[in-house]
Amino acid sequence: MSAVREEARATEYEAVIGFEVHVELATATKLFCSCPTTFGAPPNAHTCPICLGHPGTLPLLNERAVEYALRAALALGCEIERRVHFDRKHYFYPDLPKAYQMSQVHAPIGRNGALTIEVGGRTKVIRIREMHLEEDAGKSVHLPDDAGTLIDLNRAGVPLIEIVTEPDISSPEEARAFLEELRLTMLYLGISDVRMEEGSLRADANVSVRPKGSPVLGSKVEVKNLNSISGVERAVAYEIERQVALLRRGERVVSETRRWDEDRRLTFPMRQKFGGEDYRPIHDPEVVPYVLEESYVERVRAELPELPHARRKRLREAYGLSAYDAGVLTANRELGDLFEAGVREGAPPKPLANWLMSEFLGYVNERGLSVRDVPITPRQWAELLALIEEGTISTKIAKTVFQRMAESGRDPREIVETEGLVQIADPEALRKIVERVIEANPKSVEDYRKGKEKALGFLVGQVMRETRGKAHPELVNRLLREALGEPGGA
Ligand SMILES: [Zn+2]
Repeated sequence: MSAVREEARATEYEAVIGFEVHVELATATKLFCSCPTTFGAPPNAHTCPICLGHPGTLPLLNERAVEYALRAALALGCEIERRVHFDRKHYFYPDLPKAYQMSQVHAPIGRNGALTIEVGGRTKVIRIREMHLEEDAGKSVHLPDDAGTLIDLNRAGVPLIEIVTEPDISSPEEARAFLEELRLTMLYLGISDVRMEEGSLRADANVSVRPKGSPVLGSKVEVKNLNSISGVERAVAYEIERQVALLRRGERVVSETRRWDEDRRLTFPMRQKFGGEDYRPIHDPEVVPYVLEESYVERVRAELPELPHARRKRLREAYGLSAYDAGVLTANRELGDLFEAGVREGAPPKPLANWLMSEFLGYVNERGLSVRDVPITPRQWAELLALIEEGTISTKIAKTVFQRMAESGRDPREIVETEGLVQIADPEALRKIVERVIEANPKSVEDYRKGKEKALGFLVGQVMRETRGKAHPELVNRLLREALGEPGGA
């Protein structure tokens, strides 16, 4: 083994990762024509002379797409390019009917932004180099057995934003956290449905490794075809390991584009579209430049919703929630809204958070529902928690009441009254049952008197069974202890 290889083997490596993320904007129509953007239409149903690039047609810029892009750029803290214009990126590819793509090469709408992520209790700022607007290409569908390729141009001309980060990400976990935070931010902004499986969020990762602490960047490999967030994490982890293994063997990492194979869990080299990265971009003369007035930019900025990072922080500080709780409630915007509305109606924050995260999310997920599908109002949530707090119902009964509420939308008090679910908190009524249980279970009574605390739990359970869960548990506990005397005593 050579000295160089010996040294390479001994060195620790670090990963340097950057992302290019495409987010499809949820506008009703395409970027330069009025074709609809709905997903899942029959092939080529949504095309017209403009998005097919027929000669003599004139593109007309979709102002809603510009507004959405501006919203994203402002949310990411970017500097805004006030004069929106487009460039043609030339390349020849079957799913690109015009042989050029409309993009913003020279003047992206946003530059120098940032997104804060949280990984393992630490926060980290990932810098955004630029964010630009562009149109999507069509889709090539390759038939099996080399029977040919079909082209679907429904997606051609659909507006996208491309978000390019600086190489600030250093692990698969950070890669995952970045994409999750970006996805959540886009959802909060209401500008995309960000469904990776439908292609409305697509990520390419640039991965390189270098000896730890080295100022020189290693050879960069672009990993494509990442179509789920966990897939991204796996692909990045695989690629880091592959490159480190090459360097340890004293081999070179080839700068190339690789494709992630989710089934085989590996990356493999991809054929390039064409050599070089020169798209010969020229300014598009047909789209009239669009000026973003300062007052307009400021209005869009003022209308930005509270973003996930800020919301998590506020939920922790205002309601004393843990970072975990705040994370779960924020990860679903509607769940967070429901929580806050419930607190405004008087529900105690921590118990409400617990109920929403366990019983409620369990119910919703089991049935494949969304938060809004369940007809429980914030006021009813507050009422349910009040019933528990004032001792009218036990937590166990409350779970039954919750199920009834979720199915019917009825008020909890009404359910409790009509179904006789009120907690038995009358000592006289319970004492009789306690005595019956003691009489029927001499063995447990004896165990308890010998000092086995566990036996008490069994007796409490028997009382709960006799009352079909309606007895007040603490009261039962107290009555049993009174009737039995101290454990180990007597
Ligand atoms: Zn069209």
